[in-house]
Amino acid sequence: MNGESHQVLRAQLGAYVLGRLDEPECVALQAHLDCCGDCRAELAELVPVAEALAEVDPDRVSDEPAVPPGLGEAVLGRIRAERRTVRRRSARLSVGVALAVLTGTAVGYVAADLLRLPPAPLETVAVQQLAARVAASANLVPHTWGTEIKLTARGFEQGAGYRVVVTDRRGGDHPAGEFVGNGAGEIRCNLSSAVLRTEAAGFRVLDTEGRTVLAAAF
Ligand SMILES: [Zn+2]
Repeated sequence: MNGESHQVLRAQLGAYVLGRLDEPECVALQAHLDCCGDCRAELAELVPVAEALAEVDPDRVSDEPAVPPGLGEAVLGRIRAERRTVRRRSARLSVGVALAVLTGTAVGYVAADLLRLPPAPLETVAVQQLAARVAASANLVPHTWGTEIKLTARGFEQGAGYRVVVTDRRGGDHPAGEFVGNGAGEIRCNLSSAVLRTEAAGFRVLDTEGRTVLAAAF
């Protein structure tokens, strides 16, 4: 899945939780969600907003929702910044703001999204390619719940399944997700494991026969 598809599909998450996507768009988005931890996390944030919206009785919405101080400027600042970088995402952001204004109760979710601190710097890891055609790079993101691997790669056999495991310091393997090869096309995959960064010693990508095609020691 390339970066552009990720941005396009991510912009559709708001419409997806509201049931506004048609069947082919749903299928494409669901396939991407299987492979993209960022979009899954975003979806998890949007679902409660949509649920709150579904419970709103339009006859009972009379008062203007209270907006936290500084939110308006934060919204505008973020939208300006987003427009400069990725136009698609600001559309998604605007959907979120519109939802929040409609429900009032949801303002907190969007405010949290808008005011979230920038992500921690990525840790780059050296990747060892063990299959001839595979070229890859990887970054790590330490989380309180485990370690995320941001894998960018090409050369995995088109249509073949691959599985990723994170190895802990005692040599135990922990699942970190799966992806499908895209031949010469680039894939960008976020893989999550339940091993804390301090416990994680490396990761391996295995083909369907269990052979290691890519490995990294942290
Ligand atoms: Zn994505």
